[in-house]
Amino acid sequence: MRNVVIIGSGCAGLTAAIYAARANLQPLVVRGREAGGQLTLTTLVENFPGFPKGVRGPELIELMQKQSVEFGAEFLEGDVTRADLSRRPFILEVGKERLETRTLIIASGASAKLLGLESERKLLGHGVSTCATCDGYFFRGKQVVVVGGGDTAAEDALFLTRYATEVSIIHRRDQLRASKIMQDRLRRNEKIKFLWNSVVTDIRDAEKSEVTGIELRNVATQAETARACDGVFIGIGHSPNTALFRGQLEMDELGYLITHKGSRTSVEGVFAAGDVQDRVYRQAVTAAGSGCMAAMDAERYLEAEH
Ligand code: NAP
Repeated sequence: MRNVVIIGSGCAGLTAAIYAARANLQPLVVRGREAGGQLTLTTLVENFPGFPKGVRGPELIELMQKQSVEFGAEFLEGDVTRADLSRRPFILEVGKERLETRTLIIASGASAKLLGLESERKLLGHGVSTCATCDGYFFRGKQVVVVGGGDTAAEDALFLTRYATEVSIIHRRDQLRASKIMQDRLRRNEKIKFLWNSVVTDIRDAEKSEVTGIELRNVATQAETARACDGVFIGIGHSPNTALFRGQLEMDELGYLITHKGSRTSVEGVFAAGDVQDRVYRQAVTAAGSGCMAAMDAERYLEAEH
């Protein structure tokens, strides 16, 4: 029987692990399918306090993990495949392994959203990508497009200019959602072009298993056009990883867990931290902060029980 199991090993999960481990609760962290979370998919993080020159996302995650292990946190590879929160202790299944725990911290984060096109699904990994930092290297000397108008799309586009000859940002409106500083960087970069008021209606060529171009519709004029490209990067945001808890925990209409009085969910003894419960701030530092809150709430809950 565990005191605390933490689902997810991103910024929120690892901070919860550091705090829970320092409180002698010997937390077990289930690392999850996208171990390390969103930070492992980024390059330089410039806004995490304490790093005036920035810190590489994967390095920051590695340091947090080391820090948690220093105090006794344990790690389990794999993904939670079933969760029963209807009785105490809570039961989790990770592959063939069955875990019992007094408290649970859910920090399973959010995963990249897709456009929902059949061709996109077929070409994922064959020219369509949701991770510029993972796949950008394959597009040296090529033309790519980035779909989206937020900071993710902006960061992806800037990163891709290291390799690609031309990066076109396709956005469904005529104004970016990205932060001012990122917008300025985009506009200063000669390799970056913009296609405003446009949505991707199809990606070619699923039959050849490679990307040769896209079809677009201008939402203002309804004009339909085609454009050649070698890669399509989808940067349209994320959706929370909460499918396991549907019907067991209170969620909003987009599936984000609802927390109250700090990190408490609708089931006593279950706490949530990071992007899985945050559709507003979604920053590394806020995820870390909420991971700290969840660990402290779990600790107090266990103390009150005894
Ligand atoms: P976001 O801010 O929600 O932006 C998503 C973008 O994709 C929006 O421009 C949206 O268009 C567009 N979009 C959404 N669904 C679409 C669809 N089905 N088809 C076409 N376009 C679609 O998400 P994000 O960029 O992932 O950023 C999330 C949070 O992380 C933000 O708080 C951001 O500041 C933060 N972040 C920060 C950094 C950084 O500081 N370097 C890097 C990455 C992320 P609309 O604008 O029309 O809604």
